[in-house]
Amino acid sequence: MEEKKYVYLFSEGNASMKNLLGGKGANLAEMTTLGIPVPQGFTVTTEACNKYYDDGRVIANEVIDEIYEKMHELEKITGKEFGNVERPLLVSVRSGARASMPGMMDTILNLGLNDESVEAMAKLTNNPRFAYDSYRRFIQMFSDVVMDVEKRLFENLIDEMKEENNVHLDTELTADDLKELVKRYKALYKKEKGEEFPQDPKVQLIESITAVFRSWDNPRAIVYRRLNDIPGAWGTAVNVQEMVFGNKGETSGTGVAFSRNPATGENAIYGEYLMNAQGEDVVAGIRTPLPISKLQIQNPEIYKQFEDIVNTLETHYKDMQDMEITIEDGKLYFLQTRNGKRTAQAALKIAVDLVEEGMLTKEEAILKVEPKQLDSLLHPNFDETELKNTEVIAKGLPASPGAASGKIAFTAEEAKLRAENGERVILVRLETSPEDIEGMIAAQGILTVRGGMTSHAAVVARGMGTCCVAGCGAIKVNESAKTVEVNGKVLTSEDWLSIDGSTGNVYPTALKTVAPEISGYFATFMGWADEVRKLKVRTNADTPKDTMQAVEFGAEGVGLCRTEHMFFAEDRIMAVREMIVAKNEEQRRKALEKLLPMQKGDFVGIYEALEDRPATIRFLDPPLHEFLPHSDEDIEALAKEMGLTFEDLKATVESLHEFNPMMGHRGCRLAVSYPEIAEMQTRAVIEAAIEVKNNKGYNIVPEIMIPLIGEIKELKFVKDVVINTIKAVLEETGAELEYKVGTMIEIPRAAITADEIAKEAEFFSFGTNDLTQMTFGFSRDDAAKFLNAYYENKIYEQDPFAKLDQNGVGTLVKIAVEKGRATRPDIKLGICGEHGGDPSSVEFCHNIGLDYVSCSPFRVPLARLAAAQAQVKNPR
Ligand code: PEP
Ligand code: MG
Repeated sequence: MEEKKYVYLFSEGNASMKNLLGGKGANLAEMTTLGIPVPQGFTVTTEACNKYYDDGRVIANEVIDEIYEKMHELEKITGKEFGNVERPLLVSVRSGARASMPGMMDTILNLGLNDESVEAMAKLTNNPRFAYDSYRRFIQMFSDVVMDVEKRLFENLIDEMKEENNVHLDTELTADDLKELVKRYKALYKKEKGEEFPQDPKVQLIESITAVFRSWDNPRAIVYRRLNDIPGAWGTAVNVQEMVFGNKGETSGTGVAFSRNPATGENAIYGEYLMNAQGEDVVAGIRTPLPISKLQIQNPEIYKQFEDIVNTLETHYKDMQDMEITIEDGKLYFLQTRNGKRTAQAALKIAVDLVEEGMLTKEEAILKVEPKQLDSLLHPNFDETELKNTEVIAKGLPASPGAASGKIAFTAEEAKLRAENGERVILVRLETSPEDIEGMIAAQGILTVRGGMTSHAAVVARGMGTCCVAGCGAIKVNESAKTVEVNGKVLTSEDWLSIDGSTGNVYPTALKTVAPEISGYFATFMGWADEVRKLKVRTNADTPKDTMQAVEFGAEGVGLCRTEHMFFAEDRIMAVREMIVAKNEEQRRKALEKLLPMQKGDFVGIYEALEDRPATIRFLDPPLHEFLPHSDEDIEALAKEMGLTFEDLKATVESLHEFNPMMGHRGCRLAVSYPEIAEMQTRAVIEAAIEVKNNKGYNIVPEIMIPLIGEIKELKFVKDVVINTIKAVLEETGAELEYKVGTMIEIPRAAITADEIAKEAEFFSFGTNDLTQMTFGFSRDDAAKFLNAYYENKIYEQDPFAKLDQNGVGTLVKIAVEKGRATRPDIKLGICGEHGGDPSSVEFCHNIGLDYVSCSPFRVPLARLAAAQAQVKNPR
């Protein structure tokens, strides 16, 4: 067997080797092949990283030997020598995963410097200040990034030095000062680590490479990977590259450039540079960089070369490039290039422009925009500059995107009242329940301590397009004292909070928001996505308003109307409660009679908003006690209103209490116990359809969906009630109407017996929220409490309630698809769990041949794009 190769010179690779060399390494190799001036070096592969972990977090000797070998070759290429005291070769060490990952290790520059080579540098450059400044920066970076010695300790030493010398700026320190500072840095290192600062460049190098591998698993990187759907198994590569210096004098400089404007997408080179500086000076804001267009005036020859290379790179990669350059003694180098990060607006403009310029096909362009990025186009965002200067006091789950500021409101009623008085509020709750709905509508944003990505707060907020941060365990809410404690601060209802539902960040102040702007590029681009995709996209909506919003975003029907959400409105909760506390069927029917016209009215509104599009109406699902008050005070008030005694009502509430309500008396079980509820709902669905058909001429084909089926006979029982009611209504009205009766597949037993269930069900809709909950055996509302420990211990990489667990839950879905189709080849198949709005889960749904996905209105554009991308990647 040929021996595995773990290290590649830049001249040995190319862009197609991204999985092995990482994005940065593959692009450095590609640029080398293209003849672009790149400081040379080598890449230690992602496989070496994986081996490091497999071997118990050590770099194997064979890999170390290969690194030394390549270092030797690099010495030949550069004519310099690693550790040499006359012509020292200095390198940078940087991480470089397949996808760019800002959560990982910082760069180490000037590696190879030691007490001797620093002197050589001083002589070679005739600039001892520069040499010692480079050395002290290296000691600081190496100690901080590789050896975990706090940066602050070094910064204290610089501050002391400046004080002693009575100067304010680092740049005012002389070569001798910096020489002395190096001594102090090394002493600090020895004190902290119990050994001398490593003088052997080989030791410096191997320690640094090890640190990059280690950083793949630091908590920041794990969080970043989870948010960006990057598998832990990819590993990171490490790039070792010859240093070139932009701070050697007035003919040297450093810069960053984009081939197009990353904020607007405008087709003009955009960038900044500084002469006589290192990249760090730009980042640290010590000096203000100049716009790259100035370079054209300052040095037209270099600018021309720069511009040519930028154009070559963009044409070569067929995408906007983000590049780092250095000019050393009048010679231009490209230190890296990559597809540039861009705002959503820019992403759309660039994708459309590249097609119009003939560089990309529509299919290729479809892959250039991240579906999740579309979120920021549909919701307000915080002002970037304000954000930069604001402390994050806590972080929760990014449950529903957008940005909102408001004063703290502790209850739904309070939120509603204060909002009516013109105040902006953030509703802060331990967790929300259906009773909070009006407060949730009134609030600018919702923050909960508990609950995961499919908790009530998350699902409802996403449906409304309201920003929500859920499961933010770092805040302590004292509901009776009306205080929030966070990070040692106590906040009251007079304090402002800002929450970012796209990052999960919480800020202790009011921040400015910027309204989203939708350009013509959005429509053009989404039109292309619609031309390409095979998967249909419906929406989860319970009100005419949400339905209309979704249709505007391109929804092709309602995939899930949760009828219970209609029951909480102020004007009907009383009738709902009467229905629940009814002592017998007669009382219950009376209450249901009151509900019927209201429920029918809701459906009329939804059908009208949909025009001819299909609507799946799901029958009542949650446990009944959710509709009842729980505190003695509220029970007392309700008893009075209903003409019952407190004891009587309290006893009813208690009798409805359940230990595991999620697995209790809910879903189709309600209709089995009280068929009259299903009767009323059927009547409302059918009468509304007839009415809209007659009045508006729309061809409504209602799809009645029975939830939480686990056994065919359950479905048969409820379906009989439904069919008999439909027959009765059609007879009474003399109308004709097409309709469908189907079920949700959200209990593992239903998936496994889907061939039987399909005998009675004309369609399946996968309720992957419950299916995930029941397959994993943990509750969607409580999982947030322990999932973090699972991420930290690498048991899970992702929240299975946000991203479909394809191995487990996905297998159940696939089984049900196969079995369902075996019984009923034309069975309609969709998904309506929250996964219907997650890009990778949408791709899965495409791949297994579902007919549609259904998601909350604000995620409809994202799902349309994800479905188109799935078709481009895997045509069906
Ligand atoms: C589901 O379980 O996936 C679903 C859509 O139903 P709900 O979230 O209302 O339980
Ligand atoms: Mg469900």
